[in-house]
Amino acid sequence: MRRDVRRVAILGGGITGLSAAFYLKRLAKERGREIDVVVLEKSGRLGGKVNTLRKNGFVIERGPDSFLGRKLPMLRLARELGLLDELTGTNPQATKTYLAMDGRLQPMPKGLNLGIPNDLGAFARNSVVSPRGKLRALDELRLPPKEDDADETVGGFLERRLGREMVERVAEPLLAGIHAGNLYRLGLKATFPQFAEMERKHGSVIRGMIEARKTAPAAGAKAAEARSAAVGGAKIPPTAFLTFRNGLSTLIEALEEKLREEGAEIRLGAEVAAIARTEERGRGSAEAASAPAAAYRLTLADGSTLEADDVLLTLPGYATAELLSPHVDVGALRIDYVSVANVVFAYDAKGFNHKLDGSGFLVPHGEGRTITASTWTSSKWGHTAPAGKRLIRCYVGHADDQSAVELSDEEMTAAVRRDIRELMGLTAEPEFVEITRLRRSMPQYPVGHADRVAAFRAELASRLPGVYATGAPFDGVGLPDCVQMAKEAAERMLADEA
Ligand code: FAD
Repeated sequence: MRRDVRRVAILGGGITGLSAAFYLKRLAKERGREIDVVVLEKSGRLGGKVNTLRKNGFVIERGPDSFLGRKLPMLRLARELGLLDELTGTNPQATKTYLAMDGRLQPMPKGLNLGIPNDLGAFARNSVVSPRGKLRALDELRLPPKEDDADETVGGFLERRLGREMVERVAEPLLAGIHAGNLYRLGLKATFPQFAEMERKHGSVIRGMIEARKTAPAAGAKAAEARSAAVGGAKIPPTAFLTFRNGLSTLIEALEEKLREEGAEIRLGAEVAAIARTEERGRGSAEAASAPAAAYRLTLADGSTLEADDVLLTLPGYATAELLSPHVDVGALRIDYVSVANVVFAYDAKGFNHKLDGSGFLVPHGEGRTITASTWTSSKWGHTAPAGKRLIRCYVGHADDQSAVELSDEEMTAAVRRDIRELMGLTAEPEFVEITRLRRSMPQYPVGHADRVAAFRAELASRLPGVYATGAPFDGVGLPDCVQMAKEAAERMLADEA
């Protein structure tokens, strides 16, 4: 069948796939070009990990709950979708966080940034690290920097610089929690590249953090300026984390609406099972020169097929690896994924026996609990619970122990309630409980990830021109990272075809 416009198939209807579709349409239009976009999503809903449940006046996030406001791609996208008025920030009163230590909650030690001392006076006074552990950490100021540029694990780096106790009692709950990972398996350059950079630039990560604290006011003013420019001077909450007052799915719904308006096709229940090359791109008949024949044939799980000139995969690493393994070396994508679950409890304020005077707490793995952290959601985010109600969310599952994710609902609820009773003293009966299991959902970037990804992309470009892959398994798991990668993929696709 002859088609006059190029057709792009986007695999995956998560935030990466939908924003890529949005930017492809938008950028093509700006350049006076027409492009056919079809989004193929395996499940019965759009959003992927982004999944808001609105129930009884509560706004409950089953996956991510917010995004970093200093990373601008999400703000730009929110502006382009007319959603700036929907943005909301964290409660300025709920800044306190706690750490579970020896069976009870203690205020998070002060004088640290991302687990690295940045205020030596405050660090010396904290009661979480032993005097010996503190002395070992401060030795870091005298340690020579590493001489080579080789990547290493986050745990290896921190232990080398600050000592084992700092890793176990401070860094592990703070940093590992972000990836549900094991710090001794996560690659430094792909997860916390700023640490390696500080060692290189300042000869010490503590000195780098102290320097960053000193320059924070100036850096903050600059960041606020960039943020304001990204939203065209609109007034938005100044907090570090942001979300939408009706939940993160607001963004997914706006993207879907926009894409349908622009004539993009969105297919749910469309699992792509195979990708095959049909013919050489840009070669052949005169007709191909003006309107090239499709270069790829996608076979769906139901046996149907679809042809596309270009294909963009925005799937979990293992799914992209499965589809591309007949064509290229997919070793870079065969990374570990950790399964996690979260358990949300909704309460009436009457009889709720905790003051929720902060945003929640973290639990070091060594504490031997089922939960790894808890967010005091209704205290941290005012929009999430109606007046007179309370909402808290607890996280289950860690790289070193994912078995809790497979507990039955009853067992998981009981184990999590035991933890919050023992740690918070909370005995109130919840009005309802929502459990979400996200199996193989947290990619664990290993040592050398960035280099392997670059080699994979180079091979993909040369062997399967017109096939692209991006999203959370590649250059960052945060929502703004995904939006940024999606936009870059759209730009690359249009540039390659110009
Ligand atoms: P996904 O959301 O995984 O989307 C991929 C889509 O592809 C899915 O819809 C899937 O069904 C579909 N698919 C799979 N195989 C096929 C196939 N063969 N054919 C067609 N479709 C297919 N980030 C933040 O910035 N802030 C947070 O607070 C935060 N919290 C998080 C909490 C949890 C519990 C998790 C798991 C992640 C969190 N993240 C957070 C990370 C962030 O949510 C993800 O990195 C991001 O949503 C990934 O988006 P994506 O579109 O790349 O992938």
